[in-house]
Amino acid sequence: MNLHVTGFSALVRKANLINGEWVGADDGKTIDVTDPATGQTIATVPNAGQAEASRAIDAAHDAFPDWAGMPLGQRVALMRRLHDAIQDNLEPMAQMLTAEQGKPLSESRAEVGSSAAYVLWFAEEARRTNGSVIPSPIPGRKLMTTRHPVGVVAAITPWNFPSSMLARKLGPALAAGCTVVVKPASATPLSGLVWGHLAEECGFPAGVINVLTGSARAIGGEITANPKVRKITFTGSTEIGKQLLAEAAGTVKRMSMELGGNAPFIVFDDADLDAAVDGAIIAKFRNAGQTCICTNRLFVQAGIYDRFVEAFAARVASLKVAPGGEDGAEQGPLVDDAALEKIEELVADALAKGGNLVTGGAAHERGGLFYQPTVIAEATSAMRVTTEEIFGPVAPVYRFETDDEAIAAANDTEYGLASYAYTTDLARMFRLQDRLEYGLIGINEVLIVMPEIPFGGLKESGLGKEGSWQGIDDYLETKYTCIGGMSG
Ligand code: NAP
Repeated sequence: MNLHVTGFSALVRKANLINGEWVGADDGKTIDVTDPATGQTIATVPNAGQAEASRAIDAAHDAFPDWAGMPLGQRVALMRRLHDAIQDNLEPMAQMLTAEQGKPLSESRAEVGSSAAYVLWFAEEARRTNGSVIPSPIPGRKLMTTRHPVGVVAAITPWNFPSSMLARKLGPALAAGCTVVVKPASATPLSGLVWGHLAEECGFPAGVINVLTGSARAIGGEITANPKVRKITFTGSTEIGKQLLAEAAGTVKRMSMELGGNAPFIVFDDADLDAAVDGAIIAKFRNAGQTCICTNRLFVQAGIYDRFVEAFAARVASLKVAPGGEDGAEQGPLVDDAALEKIEELVADALAKGGNLVTGGAAHERGGLFYQPTVIAEATSAMRVTTEEIFGPVAPVYRFETDDEAIAAANDTEYGLASYAYTTDLARMFRLQDRLEYGLIGINEVLIVMPEIPFGGLKESGLGKEGSWQGIDDYLETKYTCIGGMSG
């Protein structure tokens, strides 16, 4: 792999990748990509629409038979090369991610590293898409199942993890033998375009990976209506996920949905206080609170409540708020004006309903899209922060007395993605495992996501799993074959 650059501008592609060619939008229109820390435009990318999407789908459809039929060793070798290319370019990719998304550079490095890890994991899983032989209850028959790639996959990704969300989709799709049309978020399209560039450099055949930037509605409309797309894998809001599910019903596609969350973080009286505070800082303030598995609601038992709030607020108040590229930055800017306005509204609502502002609660002195890390104590279920995804650096802390009360409150949401709890009681840990209605449960630990585990939400947080051996299943069809006349 020769491509190894030192600055991210050498990696940025300002065009779309369709059938191995870098092209603009048909009408020449573009979208500005801005750095949320400065508001400055850092690149422009094509504003493509339905016609470009249709051509990208055709390209993926045409490339599918050869890609699916490629000897497995060659496919795996290409994926390993892609993994190495990402590792080799980790630093410029991380810088670009921080520039387009705003998160601290340390978090961007971790995200790009994790993206490479997903590609490697699925390259390894490609060798284990086994079928089965079923003992026949009827003599003279051989019954078996075989597994086959579903076909063209459309991958739609959000702005908060523009690299790793793509890795969790491209990894299993390519490993299974599917070809892909990628539609990254308009706010953060550069990471997705770099994936296309690296894949090309690694030698992936034209049409196997196509990357389109532009109108979500026009591209999304083509993706959902076009019968050549056999699967949609989407990460984003529950609202858009539901819309895509409804739109795609007409062509009965496979659908994987990684949607919104409303993660509870429960601290019991017997918890290790320091560990709980450390965990809460990461679970709440990573990516300025803009992750789907970020803690939305902190439930703290009465006996430890005051000590927790005091220790937690002291740590929150000391977080370094700065542009993601600045040394020691711990919280970057919010993604856009709408996000900032929403946070201001949610805080005003919580305070109007009796919340006790312990720290923060206003725009940060740096201005722009920076907001103070905020703790609101004595939160109640009447507040909007209880039911809405906050997606910002605001931590409401609720008081509870009993386990039943905490678990009922934690489950009282249509979401079911991530949940966290701190306790030293083993029996309680198992009760939590049984009773928390969440796809991910972190007990005394918040950094719980890695390629080896099945990531996915329950209830309205989604359908399907990404990562683990289960992550490739959604990209494979099972065929059953019965061969008769096998006796004597
Ligand atoms: P979003 O508004 O739902 O957008 C997600 C993606 O869908 C973007 O690429 C967007 O394109 C595209 N899109 C929007 N409308 C569309 C349409 N009508 N047809 C097709 N595509 C459409 O979500 P977001 O604000 O980017 O991301 C934040 C949300 O993602 C939060 O709810 C968060 O919890 C969730 N999330 C979930 C996970 C998970 O794994 N469960 C992980 C990360 C984030 P444009 O950018 O061009 O509008």
